[in-house]
Amino acid sequence: MSIRAENLTYIYGAGTALEQYALKNVSFEIPEGQFVGLIGHTGSGKSTLIQHLNGLLRPASGTVYYDGTDIYSEGYSLRNLRSKVGLVFQYPEHQLFEVDVFSDVCYGPKNLGLDKEDVEERAKEALRQVGLKEKYWDQSPFELSGGQKRRVAIAGVLAMNPRVLILDEPTAGLDPKGRDEILEEIGSLHRERGMSIVLVSHSMEDIARYADRLMVMNHGEKVFDGAPREVFEHYRELESMGLAAPQVTYIVHQLKERGVPMEDGITTVAQAKEAVLRLLGKEGQI
Ligand code: ADP
Ligand code: MG
Repeated sequence: MSIRAENLTYIYGAGTALEQYALKNVSFEIPEGQFVGLIGHTGSGKSTLIQHLNGLLRPASGTVYYDGTDIYSEGYSLRNLRSKVGLVFQYPEHQLFEVDVFSDVCYGPKNLGLDKEDVEERAKEALRQVGLKEKYWDQSPFELSGGQKRRVAIAGVLAMNPRVLILDEPTAGLDPKGRDEILEEIGSLHRERGMSIVLVSHSMEDIARYADRLMVMNHGEKVFDGAPREVFEHYRELESMGLAAPQVTYIVHQLKERGVPMEDGITTVAQAKEAVLRLLGKEGQI
């Protein structure tokens, strides 16, 4: 499914003294299968924006199209849309409620009216894809660790077989190991299921390795939109918005300033390593 957002503007508390423009004229298109990183400082409008992508919020002006159809038009089934566009909220584990992990993951597909066998098949596949071992499936979700709970919540959305998966800060509050594991799993979902992904984060490091494209939000506006390497070229402006480019960007710039002919467009540690080894003539040896 392709997504097109056109001039989205959203105002909290419109007409009151607390009126707040959370989105200002935001437009973009996401072709089917793209992995988009949505970044911005806290309060920049990321969560507000993604809630428009499954019709949970209605814009003050502008609209959203899926495969060319306006989702706010009369007669459009938002219920149907929400079965195809999976939204994983921030701290989704707060919404776990069933007595055991497996039942919790079955809840969504069961509500779609599938028969028991299909529901269970989907739940198993989703739990495997998020890397939750079978020994946990009959446990209460509340007995699991933070990272495991989050996996269960993500599996619950995956079991709906969405075409688009939107995750709001899925690594928030996890330790570095838990964070890397979840990101790896999201990366492999993208590869294996070919679904479109919108990953919200305030960490450039998290996103640079996985996203095909970055959209940067600041004060409700989309300020940059492009491949990670293009966006990180603006690292000084990013800093002024309270966002740091990945550490490696700074190292590469300093090397360049000192006359080391590092190539353009390096955004990950692995790329920097290869570039340095090439310069040393030791490519592939270390
Ligand atoms: P982010 O997800 O990037 O942190 P949000 O979309 O949550 O940003 O918030 C964007 C702006 O809208 C912020 O200024 C925030 O204070 C405001 N805001 C968010 N939710 C509400 C709400 N329910 N009521 C009033 N203002 C809100
Ligand atoms: Mg948010």
